Amino acid sequence: MLIDSHAHLDSPRYADDREAMLVRARESGVGAILSIGIGEGPAEMHQALEICREFNRRRQSSAGLPRLYASAGIYPHNTPEADAAALAKLDALLAEPEVIACGEIGLDYYHEGAPHDVQRTGLIRQLEIAAARKRPILIHCRGTHESADAWDDIFLVLDEFWGRTGLGGIMHCFGGGWEQARRSLDLGFLVSFAGNLTYPKAQPLRDVAARVPMDRILVETDAPWLAPTPHRGQRNEPALVAQTAQVLAGLLSVTPDEIAGATTANFLQLFHLPPDVGN
Ligand SMILES: [Zn+2]
Repeated sequence: MLIDSHAHLDSPRYADDREAMLVRARESGVGAILSIGIGEGPAEMHQALEICREFNRRRQSSAGLPRLYASAGIYPHNTPEADAAALAKLDALLAEPEVIACGEIGLDYYHEGAPHDVQRTGLIRQLEIAAARKRPILIHCRGTHESADAWDDIFLVLDEFWGRTGLGGIMHCFGGGWEQARRSLDLGFLVSFAGNLTYPKAQPLRDVAARVPMDRILVETDAPWLAPTPHRGQRNEPALVAQTAQVLAGLLSVTPDEIAGATTANFLQLFHLPPDVGN
């Protein structure tokens, strides 16, 4: 069984075939999916939970669906909207049992958008809420082109506001170098690889992935984005996480079954979930 640790199941791009897409995931061996609750902003933060509940309910009468979990968070470029009402909504969502993580949150200096100090303040407010609700975090971190600026800033924040919680988290769609991977591991984080691991120009990232310990790795799709080779450019979906897992298996010189076992065990341990989630 594989777990897709990061998919935007609430994307409008699944509006016409969401159930069929989830059935395809189950048929490809995906037993569980973490449905990311950022929407297009805080007003849509609850959508992932709604999808999670709807399909877990249907799953009780049809075994052909993966189990869904949800997250909630305010994406870096939506932090100008992180007012008291949005933060109260986040807090209420994190109190729900299905909402196992706060994210994706973090810093994004790659795209033009929210000022860096606004992103940083929004991140810190959310870390405080996640800590109080005892939810691990899902970090999005992307620096200015070929720079580690956002990484340097995020480690300053996480060292000060998160490390001591012991709750850990996931470096989602990891795209840093070994130094950033090492610092993430030191902080107790899992490192999650997405479909970009399979792209021809991603050899530096594959070199990093080959060094991450088996008990700290995860796989994800970040669907509907970042479809792995040979589906690059198409709409991505959780069924395709198997492609990324296969490439990761090659890098770590293990079998795809061993990658599936390790990434599933790592996910379940981080979120304190029972071993039978995919049944
Ligand atoms: Zn994402």
